[in-house]
Amino acid sequence: MTVKPLPVLGVVGAGTMGSGIALVALYAGCEVYLQDAYPQVLEKASAYIQSHLEKKEQAAKFSKLHLVSQLEDLALAGLVIEAAPEQIELKQDLFRKLDAICPPPAVLATNTSTLSVTAIAAATSHRQRVAGLHFFNPAPVLPLVEVVCAAQTSQQTLDQLVAFVQALGKTPVVTGDTPGFIVNRVARPFYGEALRLLGEGAATHEQIDQIAEQGGGFRMGPFRLMDLIGLDVNAAAMRLLYEQSFGEPRYRPHWLQAQKLAEGALGRKSGRGFYEYNDDVKGVKAEADKPTIGGTGRVLISEGTWAPGLAQLCRQAGFEVDSVPEPEQQAVACFVVAGRGEEASRLVAWYDQSLPPEVPLFVQCADLALSEAVTWVRHPQRLIGFDGLFFAGGSAATLVASAGGLRNQAEQLVRSLGKTPVWIKESPALVLPRLVCQLVNEAAFAELESVADGLTIDLAMRLGVNYPRGPLEWGQQLGYDKVLAVLDHLFAEYHEERYRACLRLRQWARM
Ligand code: NAD
Repeated sequence: MTVKPLPVLGVVGAGTMGSGIALVALYAGCEVYLQDAYPQVLEKASAYIQSHLEKKEQAAKFSKLHLVSQLEDLALAGLVIEAAPEQIELKQDLFRKLDAICPPPAVLATNTSTLSVTAIAAATSHRQRVAGLHFFNPAPVLPLVEVVCAAQTSQQTLDQLVAFVQALGKTPVVTGDTPGFIVNRVARPFYGEALRLLGEGAATHEQIDQIAEQGGGFRMGPFRLMDLIGLDVNAAAMRLLYEQSFGEPRYRPHWLQAQKLAEGALGRKSGRGFYEYNDDVKGVKAEADKPTIGGTGRVLISEGTWAPGLAQLCRQAGFEVDSVPEPEQQAVACFVVAGRGEEASRLVAWYDQSLPPEVPLFVQCADLALSEAVTWVRHPQRLIGFDGLFFAGGSAATLVASAGGLRNQAEQLVRSLGKTPVWIKESPALVLPRLVCQLVNEAAFAELESVADGLTIDLAMRLGVNYPRGPLEWGQQLGYDKVLAVLDHLFAEYHEERYRACLRLRQWARM
């Protein structure tokens, strides 16, 4: 039995997602039956769909839309997508009814973001034809659709749904039925770690966003993105993931979320979240200041690979680069780019002894703590922590200094390399190493738990949340050994299971 890629489509629920999915299907030429329990919702959806079809000069396709009020009116559908509110009892009740109204070979799919598709399918008597079809909001714009394989979904059902998504002109990724599927799960640390950094007073939300955007290349920093998604929606996803995983510490909700909800600060939609949104339109991105590149003198860079591209960056800016101090030719700065351990402590102590105290000594703090490095030197005020692995890549650099440190000299040097310095308080793995390495770790857990293969996870994260790179590709570029070192450093500092490195990551790091 084969079903055409574009079957007659039934959509249950004509709200945000249902109306968007119906529009996408109409664009592709489908006959669509759109059902909702409330007539006024259907009217609103109809006006929205008509105006968008007209804008795209496809008004004729509006005749293929049928607005219906009863589930029984979906009897002709070859595929039904349910987009009703996120409540398990409601969805199970709808699927129980659809099971009787739309006999096989019709396929039944749910657009749930967080509920178990297997639990929804359990309400039907033909579970092999039930799957998840997770569109992202706004459905007409975002290219990714997660096709969720529940415990008893047949290969034939998956194939049909993949073909349907492709016929809509979108990109399907097949994922297992685990909490949050791929995108909502792998993206968790981006919000969770940012909230912890803010909660611990390491940096402000504006600084964290600036570092993520200008330093890491994320289109939106975590706080700007949470404001856009809605703090209530984001917090609910976090809580559901935490509950469904039986208390996995990586998904533990943060008290700041609860506080924001109690304040009624839900993000853009309520005019206030982490940022204010009023007529002055606060919360928009600050323009990156563009420091002028250029400097003279010698910069010393130690052995080690914890700041790739640093030597090239310094040379391009006009500095001479060397690794050994010479009394006749004073250095303007020194970078120690070795990883944590004896190598780093030996190098930091040696440069400290060899260089006059007014020369700033930069120490990579992705996998070591500045407060630890301070114990290795005679001139602690010269130590400046920087974000190592991420320093050369972006236009903003994260820096930390000990009290009374050589901030001005350090700031001048960093600016002459074309970077905007962002000074934060000392915190394990600073900002980008912590955010990115926890994303890599979460993607490794998803791969280990067979949610999807690595390439699929990366594709889903690039298309689903616009990440500049897939997390696993990023991990490979940074070096899995280094990602592991950052995670082990976080674990050593916090002693929390949340930072345990995934078994898969350890295996990849050994390869
Ligand atoms: P919504 O509240 O905008 O729409 C739900 C619609 O279902 C409403 O129009 C409501 O009238 C209708 N409805 C309620 N009970 C019904 C019933 N018994 N029969 C038929 N219709 C009924 O919600 P939404 O944001 O469109 O979310 C729908 C689903 O899509 C949820 O499962 C949600 O988790 C998922 N989802 C939402 C987003 C998002 O960003 N909004 C993204 C991806 C997935």
